[in-house]
Amino acid sequence: MKITAIETFVCHARMRNWIFVKILTDQPGLYGWGEATLEWHTRAVVGAIEDIAELIVGEDPRRIEHLWQMMFRQHFWHGNGIIRSTAISGIDLALWDIAGKIANMPCSQLWGGRVRDWVRTYSHLGGGKMEDFYETSVDDARQFGDLARQAVEAGFTAFKAMAVPPTMPLEGLRPIRLAEAAVAAMRDAVGDEIDIMVDCHARPSPAMGLKFGQALDQFGLYFFEEPCWPENIEGLAAINAAITTPVATGERITDLATFRELFNKRGCDVCQLDITHCGGLTAARRVAALAEAHRISLAPHNPQGPVSTAASLEFGFSQPSYIICETVHNDVPWRNDVVSEGFTVETKGRIVKPNTRPGLGIEINEAEVKKHPFEQELLQRVFYPDGSVGDW
Ligand SMILES: [Mg+2]
Repeated sequence: MKITAIETFVCHARMRNWIFVKILTDQPGLYGWGEATLEWHTRAVVGAIEDIAELIVGEDPRRIEHLWQMMFRQHFWHGNGIIRSTAISGIDLALWDIAGKIANMPCSQLWGGRVRDWVRTYSHLGGGKMEDFYETSVDDARQFGDLARQAVEAGFTAFKAMAVPPTMPLEGLRPIRLAEAAVAAMRDAVGDEIDIMVDCHARPSPAMGLKFGQALDQFGLYFFEEPCWPENIEGLAAINAAITTPVATGERITDLATFRELFNKRGCDVCQLDITHCGGLTAARRVAALAEAHRISLAPHNPQGPVSTAASLEFGFSQPSYIICETVHNDVPWRNDVVSEGFTVETKGRIVKPNTRPGLGIEINEAEVKKHPFEQELLQRVFYPDGSVGDW
């Protein structure tokens, strides 16, 4: 059995261009789907997949670990930069999809079988509509409350908000009070039974992240995400030690050694590995084993497209430490035209019942994808009031 070609399909979905990866084989009708979406780097990732294809076209698609080693270690440069690690991830997902199709079973079955009956999901405020999530101003607490209520009305038992504004490395009380008011409005709107998460998008410095974390601790957040730059593991660890709310991070980490350092220093209690960036399902399973040794839970980052979601769910059905699946459903109205999925979502509680199809259980409609060709992603940039550069 041989890989005959690796194709990419770019699908413009407003905030992101989804990059779907299709691996073709010499077996009639046997192919796999993966996803390598990386916002603002679409052309680079498509090019990287082309470069990697040189290494593995002609190889046996069933030797996933062997191919992963080739992709990560050959061509001299290790595959842990974000472009190449995303490209590897997309290919790796498609290889696992093929493996499941060969075995005629869902991927989770390949990894020892289901460990749970359903997977819980959470939504972004606004369900992934970029304006609601990214552009609701932190001084509009009422809007946070209204959107929180809508998430619960849509069936979710958990949702995430960006209720922490961009701040300079040090600022006074004003942004802290705004964040407090926004989170208070959400808690008032939905009560204590619903889990609320706050994503800082790594905007704060460690000092500001600590201030925000301490101020928001009173609201019993489910987790507190990226309270400072992911490169600053000491800062994350200090914040995680100082508050009772679990710190979550990991979406920008692309190699096992950095996950080891993050876990060893207890920089988080929730690991948000991104299966489409960290090296695919092959690498995600290694990260999960490492996390398990530290009793750190898994909540993979997944604001991307439908193959990423299917991969996160198959992973979730196979991993005991997996707690919740990030989802978006309102990013584009035609999401369900592009994909057919093997799992089912129950509106009440937004829980997912297992995929019953082989592999990732995904089929991408190539004709629909072609209706949404590449467009440059909308720029999202932050400058502080004095004109200096901030983090988005
Ligand atoms: Mg995040």
